[in-house]
Amino acid sequence: MKNYSALKLKLAMLLVLIGIMLNLSSCSVQEYSSQLYAMNTVVEVKFYGSDETQIVSGELNRIEKLLSVTNENSDISKLNYAQGESVAVSDDTVKVLETAFEIYADSHGDFDPSIYPVVKLWGFTTDNYNVPDNAQITSALKNVDFSKIEISDNSVRIPAETEIDLGGIAKGYAGQCIRDVLKDSGITSAIISIGGNVQTVGNKPDGSNWTIGLKNPDGGEKLCDIKVGECSVVTSGGYERYFEMDGKTYHHIIDPDTGRPAESDFKSVTVICDDGARADGLSTALYVGGFDLVKEYISSHSDVEVIAYTVDDKLAVTQGIYDKITLCFAETIEIIG
Ligand code: AMP
Ligand code: MG
Repeated sequence: MKNYSALKLKLAMLLVLIGIMLNLSSCSVQEYSSQLYAMNTVVEVKFYGSDETQIVSGELNRIEKLLSVTNENSDISKLNYAQGESVAVSDDTVKVLETAFEIYADSHGDFDPSIYPVVKLWGFTTDNYNVPDNAQITSALKNVDFSKIEISDNSVRIPAETEIDLGGIAKGYAGQCIRDVLKDSGITSAIISIGGNVQTVGNKPDGSNWTIGLKNPDGGEKLCDIKVGECSVVTSGGYERYFEMDGKTYHHIIDPDTGRPAESDFKSVTVICDDGARADGLSTALYVGGFDLVKEYISSHSDVEVIAYTVDDKLAVTQGIYDKITLCFAETIEIIG
């Protein structure tokens, strides 16, 4: 009896010791955070272990130089100025264009980077907002057709009249590139937000999942929290950029069928998957395509999770993420099926 109590005491002391050691080890991982400005947005980074701000900033600049439509030496500008000739582009550009094409095809054209002339017409590229008339829209829509892109190894061609912009996919791609360079430099735990689009590296330093809050498109308290491991979490919504004219609101995600801001089933839609470019392109596509496209897409792709906040203020989510959600502002949640 006496020995048994001594054993219990020793066990309790051992547990306390293990607790202290675990606590010490998680405290000893130093947190570094920094804020940068790139790709026309604020980038926030938190690393654990060592400060790798330089690496992140270098990678953001590298991707921006390749993909930015406003940098006239970028691969995308070269394509837009090429007058129908083939252009030699980087491996990164090919990768993003291929992912964009996949999403273009899977969304039946709801995601189409050649929508750029129409986005310009509405003034979203200059902040000189304008509601175009029907004739202007019809004319700008004439050359919107991403199916015309030709990609052969590193050689890419688009028709002379077509212009493309990867604004709906580039930030997600940058996130996954940053994840890769951080991992190459030995970082096992980090979280990056590029204008609200999140990329995680590994888990939190203590091994537990990250908690990510999803913004309320109407402002105020966040919609919900989600628990995730290493992944990309990308949200699209009309609330991100819009203008008001004559009492009407016009936002920046254009339905290529109409040339007008998409009349979405959703206020916002979040896509969670391993590939940042795919999450980004897909969130834009699903915002345009609404419930029909979400249902169709998830029936053939089990490796993505979707959280849609509907126009009637419900969360509609895929089965795989349901248990990882804690409701905050949103009160109603249902599984899409
Ligand atoms: P995101 O914030 O990722 O949803 O991307 C929105 C941006 O993508 C817009 O600001 C436009 O530059 C561009 N865009 C708008 N509509 C589309 C569309 N239907 N397909 C592809 N890109 C689009
Ligand atoms: Mg997007």
